[in-house]
Amino acid sequence: MALIVQKFGGTSVGSPERMKAVARRIADTKKAGNDVVVVVSAMGHTTDELIDLARRISPDPPPREMDMLLTAGERISMALLAMAIHDFGCEAASYTGSQAGIITTTEHGRAKIVDVRTARVTEALSRGLIAIVAGFQGVSETADITTLGRGGSDTTAVALAAALHADVCEIFTDVDGVYTADPRIVPEARILHAVSYEEMLEMASAGARVLMARAVEFARNHGVVVHVRSSFNDRTGTFVRQEDERMEKAIISGVTHDTSEAKVTVQGVPDRPGIAARLFGELAGEGINVDMIVQNVSVDGHTDISFTVSRDDAARAMAVVEPIAGEIGAAGASVDPEIGKISLVGAGMRSHPGVASAMFAALSESGVNIEMISTSSIRVSCVVRERDVVRAVRAVHDRFNLSEEAIIREIHPG
Ligand code: ASP
Ligand code: MG
Repeated sequence: MALIVQKFGGTSVGSPERMKAVARRIADTKKAGNDVVVVVSAMGHTTDELIDLARRISPDPPPREMDMLLTAGERISMALLAMAIHDFGCEAASYTGSQAGIITTTEHGRAKIVDVRTARVTEALSRGLIAIVAGFQGVSETADITTLGRGGSDTTAVALAAALHADVCEIFTDVDGVYTADPRIVPEARILHAVSYEEMLEMASAGARVLMARAVEFARNHGVVVHVRSSFNDRTGTFVRQEDERMEKAIISGVTHDTSEAKVTVQGVPDRPGIAARLFGELAGEGINVDMIVQNVSVDGHTDISFTVSRDDAARAMAVVEPIAGEIGAAGASVDPEIGKISLVGAGMRSHPGVASAMFAALSESGVNIEMISTSSIRVSCVVRERDVVRAVRAVHDRFNLSEEAIIREIHPG
């Protein structure tokens, strides 16, 4: 008998029919002899609709009340799901994040889980119940209701799986798993059987939307095996787990893209110590996350500094940058939202030279200009024009033959 945590996203429970289909799957898992804990998101676009409703009431709602409102979405789906499960002959009980012992920090809208007190869920399991837990929410150390940030139900599921020492955390979603590229752009993209936590983290941060990066980080830190799979069929999806030195692995796992960033450039910055520290220090102080940074070589003692931020943060970033640019005597600052980022991710590139150059060659052969480059030990990212992103993704996917079952493999001796 295994202990399985199953998480269902908003689309998977988006209608009464979908809710019943999910309930049947959960009941089948239970009837097969497993202990089952379920984490559920709000139905369909409920969270967006609640946010919209709040905006129509107030331009700047208090964060505490916003969290109180948004947690209602998951409360609806957890109760409906428990009802549906009863009709499939299993006993289920639903629990809010607070009841399930999800203890968080106090920052409303982006609270972090600090503890999971599993007593109530464990007790439910010992009575043979299926425990349904509301995703995305918890209770702070000061007893206020909190939310974990958009997409936070993944994190709830992984945190519960870690605390309960579950055998696997199944994330059910509306795609079949993690692909070598977005299949809407690359129809021949392939499902990956397994990716390491590191690769998944890089892919999530580089625009793959299938799993929230924070959930992957949590899974890595606690060694939780995550299985990303579709709630619309029974196929095996993608396992996210510890890299196994003995397993065969492809050099490249996938190409991801992201068109949600903007590029900010400060031109003609005097080239002297302390300026970058000041600029990025103040951006950090405003809570603005900076992704890529490029500083050009200095010509006549002046240099250009470019960096990327989320488009949502671009206006705030400019508000920080413009006064500093004026003070330090820079030539000016500008923002460009029409960029896209494409990233190539794969653990095998650590030991295989030539990956970056092959990527650049693929881009140049398809006439795509590279504006910025950044790398980690297992990722190469390029900023290109937004209109070139689709072409760029296809060219790189093709260049590395990613639609074929990992044709280049390396085998590490055990
Ligand atoms: N319902 C929340 C959202 O849409 C949490 C989640 O779906 O994971 O962000
Ligand atoms: Mg959602």
